[in-house]
Amino acid sequence: MNTVVVVGGGVGGLVTARELRKRLHSDHKVVLVERGAKHVFVPSFLWLLVGLREPGQIVRDISWLPKQGIDLVLGEAVSIDPDKRVVGTPEQEISGDFIVVALGTERSLDGVPGLQETAYEFYSLEGAQRLYAALNSFQGGRVAIVIAGLPYSCPAAPYEAALLIEEFLRRRKRESEISIYTPEPYPMPTAGPEIGQALREMIERRGVRFHPQVRVVSVEGNKVKLSNGNNADFDLLIAIPVHKAPEVVRRSPLAGPNGWIPIDPQTLTTQYEGVYALGDVAACPLPGRFNPDVPLVLPKAGVFAHRQGEVVAANIASFYKGAAPSHLFDGKGFCFIEIGEGRAGFGGGEFFGMPKPKVYMRQPGRQWHWGKELFEKTWLGWVEGKRSAESISALMSSWADKYL
Ligand SMILES: Cc1cc2nc3c(=O)[nH]c(=O)nc-3n(C[C@H](O)[C@H](O)[C@H](O)COP(=O)(O)OP(=O)(O)OC[C@H]3O[C@@H](n4cnc5c(N)ncnc54)[C@H](O)[C@@H]3O)c2cc1C
Repeated sequence: MNTVVVVGGGVGGLVTARELRKRLHSDHKVVLVERGAKHVFVPSFLWLLVGLREPGQIVRDISWLPKQGIDLVLGEAVSIDPDKRVVGTPEQEISGDFIVVALGTERSLDGVPGLQETAYEFYSLEGAQRLYAALNSFQGGRVAIVIAGLPYSCPAAPYEAALLIEEFLRRRKRESEISIYTPEPYPMPTAGPEIGQALREMIERRGVRFHPQVRVVSVEGNKVKLSNGNNADFDLLIAIPVHKAPEVVRRSPLAGPNGWIPIDPQTLTTQYEGVYALGDVAACPLPGRFNPDVPLVLPKAGVFAHRQGEVVAANIASFYKGAAPSHLFDGKGFCFIEIGEGRAGFGGGEFFGMPKPKVYMRQPGRQWHWGKELFEKTWLGWVEGKRSAESISALMSSWADKYL
């Protein structure tokens, strides 16, 4: 058959499909099933919500991909049969020797009574735009940021948003008090307590109040009811949406107990031969640290989806060349943590480190903010075919090798 079907063309899916195209002979088909032709650089939602970006600056068209030899199927994947390795859309069934599932997450505010009607969010392009409009007209008061469920994409994002919003309101002299409510014990718990404490101190120094280990029960009027019996009063409510595996995944036999797809952490294989899953849709266990009550899994971040896509593409290409798959994902990654005032921190390391992740955080500075800007530019250039994949890899490894 000589066909690989990649389902989902976000960070992980795009990298996988384009890397496959580069590595495979033109007799091989690379099919990419993606519901939307517009690719968005999601990390810039943080800048969008405070007016530092406009949508046009961070959205790129991917409908040119067929020119690069990728069969782009613009449509909804409605079924995945991992036994037969067939992906269904309303129009067709597509079979492959390999299926790579990179469908990300489904996000909504409707899991908590009252949240949908009351809260703003910045986990979608439209949501971030609406939040910017709301912040513009906000005259000051209590801002509550609630994390409505775990896990969620980009564990640093709520804390970055709090700091960016603090700066936005302070510069406009709109007296405000910002509070974060989260079920987490400290920020970014997978990175360990030291990083969590450092980030907590960073936000508290800027007057942001941190309320750990509370769940949002409901929203009534201008009050959030919390699991500890307290209420959080607000004038502006911002929620990190509840994240689920996409419905097509939850309905498929690939789904594990929580809907996410269990994978081997190093090879990204699922329990079905020839079927891989990567990025946010996967539950990637952290080796050696499985706890039956709370399985510790890799945080959901684009940097991991990206590197996993490279590993999967390389191993599929090896298979077609008759070689053993030899590439392994190593759990290394990093992120820029925007703190406002044109500065960012930089953190990351080895999440597969034993007995605990070996993770570091660099002092915030302008250079990390510029680093994120450079990455945004390079990534978007690559999406529209004007920059090479090597230019992104070179950037990523220069930061990782030098600073982690
Ligand atoms: C505000 C914010 C800031 C972030 N900042 C960072 C950061 O600084 N660094 C970082 O590493 N990560 C960051 N992330 C996380 C990062 O965006 C995700 O981890 C990453 O996009 C995951 O990649 P993915 O390929 O798994 O999924 P996605 O990129 O979400 O791609 C999934 C794709 O599947 C498509 N799809 C879904 N369902 C279907 C279907 N049924 N049929 C067809 N197509 C479908 C979607 O349209 C989408 O294109 C941030 C996230 C947010 C929300």
